[in-house]
Amino acid sequence: NPASLVQAMFHLGEMVTATQSVSDEVLELLGQEMNYQIQVVSPEEEDRELLDSFDITFGEDAGGDEDLLPRPPVVTVMGHVDHGKTRLLDTIRKTNVHEGEAGGITQHIGAYQVATNLEGEERLITFIDTPGHEAFTAMRARGATSTDIAVIVVAADDGVMPQTAEAIDHARAADVPIVVAVNKIDKPGANPSKVRQQMSDYGVVPEEYGGDTMFVDISARQGVNIEGLLEAILLTADASLDLRANPTMEAQGVAIEAHLDRGRGPVATVLVQRGTLRVGDSVVAGDAYGRVRRMINEFDEDVTEALPARPVQVIGFTSVPGAGDTFLVVEEDRVARQIADRRRARLRNAQFAAARKRVSLEDLDKALKETGQLNLIIKGDNSGTVEALESSLLKIDVGDEVELRVIGRGVGGITEGDINFAAASDAVVIGFNVRATGKADELANREGIDVRYYTVIYQALEEIEQALKGMLKPEY
Ligand code: GDP
Repeated sequence: NPASLVQAMFHLGEMVTATQSVSDEVLELLGQEMNYQIQVVSPEEEDRELLDSFDITFGEDAGGDEDLLPRPPVVTVMGHVDHGKTRLLDTIRKTNVHEGEAGGITQHIGAYQVATNLEGEERLITFIDTPGHEAFTAMRARGATSTDIAVIVVAADDGVMPQTAEAIDHARAADVPIVVAVNKIDKPGANPSKVRQQMSDYGVVPEEYGGDTMFVDISARQGVNIEGLLEAILLTADASLDLRANPTMEAQGVAIEAHLDRGRGPVATVLVQRGTLRVGDSVVAGDAYGRVRRMINEFDEDVTEALPARPVQVIGFTSVPGAGDTFLVVEEDRVARQIADRRRARLRNAQFAAARKRVSLEDLDKALKETGQLNLIIKGDNSGTVEALESSLLKIDVGDEVELRVIGRGVGGITEGDINFAAASDAVVIGFNVRATGKADELANREGIDVRYYTVIYQALEEIEQALKGMLKPEY
């Protein structure tokens, strides 16, 4: 009962009240004290155990090493506002009409596939149809990886801007190779070589300068060199990724978009990552389940099966899954429902135990021991202070065991995007002379992200240095 737990805690030297949250480490100690063995599992592990109990493996290993066949790359387009992301996705959609497809891509279902020729061979590329890193990061925060390659669009008349830098940070944090589309080369002030220079300063070095990133000059508006960009995507995939999937197993993947349609009920666009999805399959996505009644592609056609890297709209869920939820096919409806029910129950519990801290400066010990690094995202009121803070932070001497990494930086208030980025990368967010905007505070609470506000640099330095040193304390 709570009273004896509080008492046991007191014996351990911790004064707590019955409603207070304690860290995982304290829980483990408390377990020992009470003669219980406490096992702390992450939500991912918990889900794996749930699937295990049904003899289901989810993920890369699910299909084994046999029957692996090449699959198309999945691409997200990122970059600064107004640099032409939407226009580029439009142009690709229009110029690339499958043979025999009269009307071209007519439906926005959240992703589409195009065909292109590389060295005489027809190959497919899947584009996520929501530009920007927000969707990309929100998905990653939920544990879903959907993107193989990031295309970063930079307008040649404007050059590298703050969100270009953010896009680079996000692609790096996700360990996704970059292809740079130097856009708007039709404009009078276009300076593609300046873009190459600027990107090099951010560590994204063009192949022609001895780096490993392909830069392609395009005009999304005039449709110039779109084929060249598609080729660069395929070449980058071939050079640095070995994209294979087993098409013969039951399908698994990720939901990328979902909504409630008045006539058709819940409609979810899923990206098949391995296996083949078929009409009639029993599916579960997050805590939603159902049976695939119809599948519709971006040409507004009914299809009966969907192969790896294929996006397809699924009708037949009994509720709306979340974007970023993983989905999988199971042998029968009953299993799908049980998995969904148990996930829903767990979600409810998790909401009760809200404000679970992923990482906080006081409680970083564990994260640090696992990874040896502390990730920071710095937001400030101007680029000068952000740079100053970053360079001073990186000068803190923390020895070899710990690595302090600034994985994101930017000017302006702390946004929901920043919090999602932090959640995806287990980072602490630092706000210097700025506040949280919109619902960022709420999201940070829900996700358990530590957000720290400072107005004086030395105060920020002192606190973070102390936290880092604390982490290095020897164990007793
Ligand atoms: P996003 O915010 O990155 O999605 O940018 P948009 O695709 O909305 O493009 C912003 C503006 O730039 C629009 O007015 C586009 O028509 C224009 N634009 C996009 N690509 C090009 C291009 O290649 N050349 C020129 N001249 N304008 C472009």
